[in-house]
Amino acid sequence: MGKNLTTRSEDYSKWYNELVVKADLAENSGVRGCMVIKPYGYAIWEKMQAALDKMFKDTGHQNAYFPIFIPKSYLSKEASHVEGFAKECAVVTHYRLKNAEDGSGIVVDPEARLEEELIVRPTSETIIWDTYRRWIQSYRDLPLLINQWANVVRWEMRTRLFLRTAEFLWQEGHTAHATEAEAIAEAETILDVYATFAEEHMAVPVIKGTKTAGERFAGAVETYCIEALMQDGKALQAGTSHFLGQNFAKAFDVKFDNTEGQQEYVWATSWGVSTRLMGALIMTHSDDNGLVLPPKLAPIQVVIVPIYRGQEQLEAISAVVNPLAARLRDRGISVKYDDRDTHKPGFKFNEYELKGVPVRLGVGPRDLANGTFEVARRDTLEKQVVPAEGIEEYIGNLLGEMQDAIYQRAKDFRDAGITEVDTYEEFREVIATTGGFVSAHWDGTDETEERIKEETKATIRCIPLDPKPDPGNCIRTGKPSPYRVLFAKAY
Ligand code: AMP
Repeated sequence: MGKNLTTRSEDYSKWYNELVVKADLAENSGVRGCMVIKPYGYAIWEKMQAALDKMFKDTGHQNAYFPIFIPKSYLSKEASHVEGFAKECAVVTHYRLKNAEDGSGIVVDPEARLEEELIVRPTSETIIWDTYRRWIQSYRDLPLLINQWANVVRWEMRTRLFLRTAEFLWQEGHTAHATEAEAIAEAETILDVYATFAEEHMAVPVIKGTKTAGERFAGAVETYCIEALMQDGKALQAGTSHFLGQNFAKAFDVKFDNTEGQQEYVWATSWGVSTRLMGALIMTHSDDNGLVLPPKLAPIQVVIVPIYRGQEQLEAISAVVNPLAARLRDRGISVKYDDRDTHKPGFKFNEYELKGVPVRLGVGPRDLANGTFEVARRDTLEKQVVPAEGIEEYIGNLLGEMQDAIYQRAKDFRDAGITEVDTYEEFREVIATTGGFVSAHWDGTDETEERIKEETKATIRCIPLDPKPDPGNCIRTGKPSPYRVLFAKAY
């Protein structure tokens, strides 16, 4: 049985959509732009959550929960914030339905109009800073380091499963500090947490940088980001960490008494990663046979498939496999023994390949006789016959090796996907053909950035952190530029 996946070279975007659905990760729902995350996809998200949550707690953060609804007046308090989000807000205006008088069905009860309309949160700075006004009085109340796991709604016009949905799951950190330097240090700490998570857990190499003013979060003074490169040459913003200055403290009047007894406005950060990370994971590693998952995030790390005829053979195999599965679990490895008699081994092999299970063990009567297993690794599709004796250790090592190998493969691809150019002709050529990140000089103005975007669809993904001084001339205007920035077409 084939998997009937469109290949990446045929149509990358079709391949992606098919893979998400066929690997049982998610599907479109009856609600425009909103997806159903299926159990297998949700299990991967839960592993991401667990790893990130631990990293947040290890850096001193606590979880809390704030309301899903934000009074419209709150959102309007920070001018650039509301301007940035206004176009994609879902608004609750009524709180009751009733039977239509003409019997035509259920309608909104016009009498049940809310006095103040509520916004379904697109992000929670406003409601959180309204709360922080009550929580923060003195320097002793700072820093305040809070995270929340939640869903948010942004009425996106063009949606893609995981990458851009109208409702998405995320975490949002919101911190309050006594000094500017502390808040900036926090935003940078979180950027490092995100980069470490992406590289060590997702095996996705990322570039750390800051956004240009034009791409900055609405209401931020500085937006830090991690950017990844997908296999089709498009970039993906994988996470953002914002230094918010005193903008929200001023909008919500959050002041504290400093150590000298004077009142000051509080300094803020906010930061988030979303279910978009699932898209990054899929598009970084997977191939024409299906998903490829880094072992650290794979819900099933090892699947064992018996190859047998008749009950007697199956029992003999199970007598060896069950204790092995237990020994693997003792080592913290997640194992599935697929002894369903409703499906043939070939069908199962295909299914686990499609679902990206890192290691597959096959075992039949001949392996039993020889004291061996057939071990297949998903990343390279290589198969090897391995002695049953000591196979737990072999598998433990193999999972670690695969985690490193898929990171290295993605990193080699990413590194090869960065092109330095010095003329606009070259720039247009690279953007229009191979894509990837293009490292080029820019004059630092919004107008030039906008013009390049209109002419090529490429945007400035980031100004890499600590850019090495490398004076040159803007590819579009020829004006002087102190260092190169990274352009790409992006998701
Ligand atoms: P922001 O609050 O705009 O800085 O976004 C926080 C995180 O959510 C970033 O990592 C974005 O890539 C991600 N994100 C923004 N919009 C969406 C969306 N519509 N669907 C999924 N993820 C999103």
